[in-house]
Amino acid sequence: MKIGFIGLGNMGGPMAANLARDHAVTGFDPVAQPTGLTLAASAAMAAQDADVVITMLPDGNILRAVAAELHPAMKPGAIHLDCSTVDVDSARAVAAQATAHGLHAIDAPVSGGIGGATNGTLTFMAGGPLPAFEAVAPLFAIMGQKAVHCGAAGNGQAAKICNNMILGVTMIATCEAFALADKLGLDRQAMFDVVSTSSGASWSMTSYCPAPGIGPVSPADNGYQPGFAAELMLKDLRLSQQAAEAAAADTPLGHAATALYAEFVETEDGRGKDFSAMLPRFETRQRP
Ligand code: NAD
Repeated sequence: MKIGFIGLGNMGGPMAANLARDHAVTGFDPVAQPTGLTLAASAAMAAQDADVVITMLPDGNILRAVAAELHPAMKPGAIHLDCSTVDVDSARAVAAQATAHGLHAIDAPVSGGIGGATNGTLTFMAGGPLPAFEAVAPLFAIMGQKAVHCGAAGNGQAAKICNNMILGVTMIATCEAFALADKLGLDRQAMFDVVSTSSGASWSMTSYCPAPGIGPVSPADNGYQPGFAAELMLKDLRLSQQAAEAAAADTPLGHAATALYAEFVETEDGRGKDFSAMLPRFETRQRP
């Protein structure tokens, strides 16, 4: 396949590099200029001959602007595969615009982070027409280990923000429980041994334990270097609340988690730390 790849940052760079081993990839990014890829002078030039154009961009506004440039330049019947994490409304607007240009659109945000992008082990959650999803499935297989079709346009983004809202809430709950256990004199290893095999278990405890030296190796064992940075968790939680607002859904814990990560990142010292660094934050605090 001929592939255009727009947005060659922390995630897009390694994803494009993995695809370039098997496919003809032409990339574009105004800032990042990775070696080993054919680079074009504009997004439109990277897209014009492509069967599939992949975008991996920071947010919905940038995606909308790039899509407005890309879609008129793409050949009829080509597929726009957006892997960025953006708001559901932007994903659906971009898909509608693609259809109006005789193109197909798939929104397929990822989980797995920079390690997953580099190692080709991402998980994709995709929305859009099934035939287009099936057409890009071989590309998912190169960039990742799993791709789930979640339904119509925007449903990939919906799945991503619902998952990450659960993750933000369970990480906070796990961290505050560890900090409470400390103050009650409960040994952290004992706490892990009980909770990881009891009804309080979650991925945050069993696979990404926020306490250093406990459970599997995680960013807590590396001074809370990300991993998954607190500011990226805040971005996803804000997208969940934007969607909840638009859909009139009541999400009190998602709302509280968003407020807590906003405080951590914007008024405390959370920026640049892994999102599990909520544990040292709680350790040092007293009950208000
Ligand atoms: P990044 O900032 O490293 O990369 C984004 C790239 O987009 C940059 O290189 C930037 O120059 C480029 N860009 C900006 N405007 C552009 C334009 N108009 N045209 C072309 N390129 C443009 O960000 P990232 O970490 O690679 O994340 C990309 C997306 O993946 C985001 O939506 C993010 O939420 C999502 N994501 C990131 C992670 C992670 O761990 N980093 C994990 C899952 C999902």
